[in-house]
Amino acid sequence: MKYFSELLFDGEKWLNDVYFEVDEKGLISKFQENSKNKVNNLGVVIPGFINCHSHSFQRAMSALAEKVHDFNSSDSFWTWREAMYDLVEKLDQKSFSIIADFVYMDMLEAGFTTVGEFHYLHKDIIESDLTLMGETIINSAFSVGIRLSLFPVLYQQGGINQELEDKQLRFNLSTDQMIKYFDEISLKVKDGNNLGLSIHSLRAVDQENMHRLVKFQKEKDCMLHIHISEQPKEVEEIKEAYKKRPVEYLFDQFEVGKKWCLIHATHVNENEVKLMAKSGCVVGICPITEANLGDGIFPLVDYLNLGGTFAIGSDSHVRVDALEELRLLEYSQRYRDLKRNRIALKEFDGSVGKTLISKTYKGGAKAVDLPVGTLKVGNYADFLVLNEKSPSVRLKRVDSLMDEIIFNSSSNIINDVYVCGIKKVSNSKHINKQKIEDQYVSILKSIS
Ligand SMILES: [Zn+2]
Repeated sequence: MKYFSELLFDGEKWLNDVYFEVDEKGLISKFQENSKNKVNNLGVVIPGFINCHSHSFQRAMSALAEKVHDFNSSDSFWTWREAMYDLVEKLDQKSFSIIADFVYMDMLEAGFTTVGEFHYLHKDIIESDLTLMGETIINSAFSVGIRLSLFPVLYQQGGINQELEDKQLRFNLSTDQMIKYFDEISLKVKDGNNLGLSIHSLRAVDQENMHRLVKFQKEKDCMLHIHISEQPKEVEEIKEAYKKRPVEYLFDQFEVGKKWCLIHATHVNENEVKLMAKSGCVVGICPITEANLGDGIFPLVDYLNLGGTFAIGSDSHVRVDALEELRLLEYSQRYRDLKRNRIALKEFDGSVGKTLISKTYKGGAKAVDLPVGTLKVGNYADFLVLNEKSPSVRLKRVDSLMDEIIFNSSSNIINDVYVCGIKKVSNSKHINKQKIEDQYVSILKSIS
């Protein structure tokens, strides 16, 4: 496949008149700036976004937990979690698959071309093969056309030293089972996709089993993702049990580094920010979900000043919109600091849009451990073609274009979406939209 782009953002900077070729594996095999070879002119192109953190099934409860049921007590993350468990009870493999198809389609339309799936609904309603639900995710991603990094999750306790609740039993695998699971499912992972491991949280796995899994992860040299410090209550529980704050405890117990992705890390002190930034780990921030659940604001300004790496994720999928995630990420820092232009670095000309987007591409690629996020030879040809009718795109003011894309555009500025150089979204609509949407509506009717 051969393409030309008159203006292309390679993940860090704008380039003019780029001609590129894509090989049969979907990798960029040739990439030339200032080319006269104007074959197949796409217009303005940017890399696809990387969604580092997803629980696909939660899409089915999006906007169904926005109502107060008891005016004498306040709703919180913990009351939302009960509603999520109620949904889980209704999901079988088929509905799980249809919801995954729908949310992966949503993601592609929003410009996400890679997803990291933090997968913990391991067991079907009926007794079946333990890898069935994981394979379902692999097959959904493949059929819809999004690139996948699958992170099967170890989830063994209902809280520190607490048995799992009945509603959590479908999440449970023993550590032996997880090790076997990893080796089995690694044979099913599609070309160009990836497999890592996850620990649900410090609450959900005891010390001994965490150490066993981390030892296994080191042997496999894969990424390890973990939810951490999302809620103040969780911080207090960890402090009481382990006499340390969660991130401090994690660094005390393990060599946290480049192969780790810490999801949320919202409630962290100065020392924890320093530990994370210096370690080379990725922090996976999920701004829309964190706002929706009332989690809090990640201290991104301090973290970035210390050289920290971050990625974005759509987590609960209350809304799937890559541009809104980035916008909210910046705005949340402004709300807290009462100042403007918080996430802006000199190396990106002080532009918030350019800083946010470039850092997110780099951090996202690390989080999913795949050659994506930068358009160059050897990386996957996952890219977005911007809407040529948009005034910002027509004006092509390269100094401000990334700020215009993030701050004054809606997601329909993304016109076409390509994965492996093949078009998956055309005119802002997925190529199988109607069928996927019809199946989703019908399955939601049946479980509501
Ligand atoms: Zn999550």
